[in-house]
Amino acid sequence: MKKIISIIIAATMLFALAGCGKDAANNSSNNQGAADGKKIIVMGTNAEFPPFEYREGEKVVGFDVEIAKKIAEKLGAELQIEDMTFDGLIPALEAGKIDFIAAGMSITEERKKNVDFSNGYYKASQVIITLKDNTEINGPEDLENKTIGVQLGTTGDEEAQKIQGAEIIQFNAGYAAIMDLQNDKLDAVVLDYEPARNFASQNDKIQILPVELTQEEYAIAVRKGNQELVDAINTVLEEMKESGEYDKLVEEYFSKE
Ligand code: GLN
Repeated sequence: MKKIISIIIAATMLFALAGCGKDAANNSSNNQGAADGKKIIVMGTNAEFPPFEYREGEKVVGFDVEIAKKIAEKLGAELQIEDMTFDGLIPALEAGKIDFIAAGMSITEERKKNVDFSNGYYKASQVIITLKDNTEINGPEDLENKTIGVQLGTTGDEEAQKIQGAEIIQFNAGYAAIMDLQNDKLDAVVLDYEPARNFASQNDKIQILPVELTQEEYAIAVRKGNQELVDAINTVLEEMKESGEYDKLVEEYFSKE
């Protein structure tokens, strides 16, 4: 009898623990749960990364948001989005302020120490952006001793730090770096290819050099050990690929310019 009771107690505790991860939002003071009593799932992002996440008026939209909506739907939860600086995302996840990160976040060995990643959902690379009239910088070897803008805490930041003698200026938004490039305060910007292409399509003064500095893959990050959520996300990604929804999104978000 005693044994059975302790098993029941253990099972109840496990159940309670498992629930914790999923309800991060309900514990924080600024949200009281969805009006209809639906569970809330919180996506953390940095909405400075078009076309993956950006603002349309007050709203955060983009490729990653579409995937996140599907994840929420799968879990029967309401999606809430928290917009913050990119380097604040992993700490926010660890602190339970958000449930997952969908932010064009590349899988790295370093990050794997602090988070678990879903399967990759998009292949990416770092590229060099310069002003079109700059004939001096033609590849990574020309970046030595130059002033380079990056987005703080990104793989582009890491990559630029390796360049000999370069002065690295860190911005919270890639777009701010592009503005400084345009105002001749920087020699180059190192950024992910898709947002670089997005910025270049709206700014005819800048160009993307045809060299890839890295090969990366974006994935969705969850708190370490939250296998249940990783599994759900992987299922959603698979289903979206099989149904053609994924390709439709690629077309919608990446062929605009
Ligand atoms: N892919 C890059 C990284 O993971 C940049 C992501 C971003 O700026 N949103 O660091």
